[in-house]
Amino acid sequence: MILDSILGITTISRGGNVNCPKCKGELEYKTEDEELICHKCSLAYPVKDDIPVMLIDEARKTDD
Ligand SMILES: [Zn+2]
Repeated sequence: MILDSILGITTISRGGNVNCPKCKGELEYKTEDEELICHKCSLAYPVKDDIPVMLIDEARKTDD
């Protein structure tokens, strides 16, 4: 928990709220794809080792 505060990262397994860095909207976690989906931006943020990569540059366009 101390490490999380230092890194400024909230792990999904702990149920912390993670918001889209672009629109600050809510994200939906897709367990099968290990991605956090922002429906507003149609972007999917990858999750690596339970740590969401909240970088717009790393996000994938979903276009659904
Ligand atoms: Zn968004």
